[in-house]
Amino acid sequence: MPISKDLNWFNVYGIPGSTLNIPNAHALRLSETLLSQRVIEGEYVLLYLDQRRTYLVKVEAGKNFHTHKGFIKLDDLIGKEYGSTVESSLGVQFTVLKPLLRDYIIKSVRRTQIVYPKDIALIIVYSGIGPGSRVVEAGTGTGALTMALAHFVRPNGHVYSYEIRGEFLETAEKNIKRAGLADFVELKNKDITVGIDETDLDAVILDMATPWLVVPHAYRALKPCRTFVSFSPTIDQTVKTVEALKENNFIDIETVECLVRGIQTEKGKTRPQTLMTAHTGYITFARKALNHTIANYSKQ
Ligand code: SAH
Repeated sequence: MPISKDLNWFNVYGIPGSTLNIPNAHALRLSETLLSQRVIEGEYVLLYLDQRRTYLVKVEAGKNFHTHKGFIKLDDLIGKEYGSTVESSLGVQFTVLKPLLRDYIIKSVRRTQIVYPKDIALIIVYSGIGPGSRVVEAGTGTGALTMALAHFVRPNGHVYSYEIRGEFLETAEKNIKRAGLADFVELKNKDITVGIDETDLDAVILDMATPWLVVPHAYRALKPCRTFVSFSPTIDQTVKTVEALKENNFIDIETVECLVRGIQTEKGKTRPQTLMTAHTGYITFARKALNHTIANYSKQ
């Protein structure tokens, strides 16, 4: 789709009066991808056969994409309207969808366990981050949570993501690039328990083994009233983290677990699905106060 010359962030975010200050060429490139209704060569599409069979494919001219239902000529996709169908060599119809953040997360090439969209949704809303936020995250792992953070802080915010295992960063970088979010992320091969380089942060968001060791660093790196979030699979980690938060002037400390139960919906047969993911992790949220000390907790 040709992009009109007067496109700006007002159009992209639909925020009247928005005066986000970012370079024009960059704005145009991103808005082209966000707004386009037709498939552009070089971008990713989600080929949908049914709910269980979807494929995240890069549209490259002259190439074919092979499935067990025949192959699809990627040339046939270029210029196609999103939502329309394409036919494989065996005459099977696939719907051409524009990938959502959720698709990039679920289809990421995994080196570690990832944070799932149900937990990410809570993390984003409770952390209070949005366009323009400066966020530190650890560990990067597969980059699933990193992608979500980058998606919400763009176009003028930034995510600094710490990872102790250098070999994971390569895969994470590829996942983040594929989602078109690399411009908003700095990957750092560092142990976050040693310290946080950045200051004036809007949020520190953790998914790593020893989050309680990061709490004092997070306190120093955050702007006042800004948020700390930690995702941990075990209760033991959660208790240590909450204790550290109390000792380090954090308030409004809250831990939640998010259970999502799928519902099988069919006339006369509608009921909860038999199987569900029973546990992923506990999410702890807190805000940085300036003078609330541990003594206040014992008085409450
Ligand atoms: N949230 C990630 C998954 C993180 S898995 C995702 O959604 O994809 C936990 C990661 O934390 C692992 O990659 C591990 O190497 C990293 N990690 C553990 N301790 C760390 C530390 N002290 N500093 C930085 N990264 C750490």
